[in-house]
Amino acid sequence: MPGRIAMKICPNLLSLLSQNVKTVAVTGTNGKTTCSRMIEEAFSEAGLSYFANRSGANLMSGVTTEFVMNCTLSGKMKKKYAVIECDEAAARTVFGQLKPQVIVVTNLFRDQLDRYGEITHTLSNIREGIRSVPEARLCLNADCSLTASLSEDGLPNPILWYGIDGTAGLKAVPSRLSDASHCIRCKAEYEYDYHTYAHLGGFRCPKCGYHRPQPDFAVTEILLMDDRHSEVVLRTPSGETPLTINLPAGYNLYNAVASVCAAEAIGIEQRICIEALGRFSCGFGRMESFPLAGGTRMILVKNPAGCSQALEYLSGIDKEYILVVCLNDRGADGTDISWIWDADFELLGPMSERIRKFYVSGDRADDMRLRLKYAGLPDEKITVEYSPEKLTDALAQETLPVYIMPTYTAMLDLRTVIVHRCGGAEFWE
Ligand SMILES: [Zn+2]
Repeated sequence: MPGRIAMKICPNLLSLLSQNVKTVAVTGTNGKTTCSRMIEEAFSEAGLSYFANRSGANLMSGVTTEFVMNCTLSGKMKKKYAVIECDEAAARTVFGQLKPQVIVVTNLFRDQLDRYGEITHTLSNIREGIRSVPEARLCLNADCSLTASLSEDGLPNPILWYGIDGTAGLKAVPSRLSDASHCIRCKAEYEYDYHTYAHLGGFRCPKCGYHRPQPDFAVTEILLMDDRHSEVVLRTPSGETPLTINLPAGYNLYNAVASVCAAEAIGIEQRICIEALGRFSCGFGRMESFPLAGGTRMILVKNPAGCSQALEYLSGIDKEYILVVCLNDRGADGTDISWIWDADFELLGPMSERIRKFYVSGDRADDMRLRLKYAGLPDEKITVEYSPEKLTDALAQETLPVYIMPTYTAMLDLRTVIVHRCGGAEFWE
């Protein structure tokens, strides 16, 4: 709201306020929040004075609000640095005013179609945004053929590439429904040396030669990966280094390596960023943990790709647990829930023995139950519990670990109830 009012009075307020602030902007479909928090952790470790739009308000009004809240009455910024998460559709207008020093693009997947339209449209929003800041350094995901194509457009920006090498051995299950199966240049079908996630991996076009760029920063080996953290080998321009990421799940390797890349681009010593990642703890529904039942983790899901990544993580857990899926269809979730049929719930089939119980919750709990049934999961194990309070009551009785996959507004509702019960920190703190 403050940003909206301020923009009425002064439409280019953000460009005035951001002039003397060194900003890292993070955009892309999945991982924006986690990646931004990781970069913040590095800023904090480096002792920089910074602010961030931690509340997730990532449109023009929200970004402006964050700058307004961090300036004096005379319009002087109180801090020198900022980490700004930017909605991929808003990048087109935000980047020009924000003038970030560094832009990170995490990846591009099909998201809520009712909001963004075609994926190439989203890509061109980001491209137009970048075009307005030719001096910004770009940190791009080399494994995403859509993101990597930003380098094909004659943009003058210096680029640092990051990715996960095939040798690292992330489970290479090609996606049933790829968001980018055909070459963005010539429409021929890509060939892959390996897949890391969905359409991410070692892609190349047999017809025109467009291929995965060699990353400057890459995970080359996974030494250990359990349900709390990962230990990997990271290749950087200055050699190989061990890296511990205090967060589970393979897809968070991308967020971690992106944050190392961004820290380098803004001029933070690599060692500092690596230390920060070892201590990092994420919040607000992104692998956030709560002392409920035998330990509860919340994994926010917003689209088929992100949901399939979470399911892949869950399918790799080798102990018994309880799975909760909370599905809402309000504005911020995307009102079209057909995406649940594109997400790979079938991945859970082979290990459904280990999932002792399923709970489905939210406004569209019944649709979710149906989806699980079609994925071949036993209906007698599924309990429907519409209300977040009753669901939390039921979970509090459990002794096994619990994994909750909520959509955005379902996460907000349920998180409030769980936080109240467990005494956790609120997201704006
Ligand atoms: Zn091609």
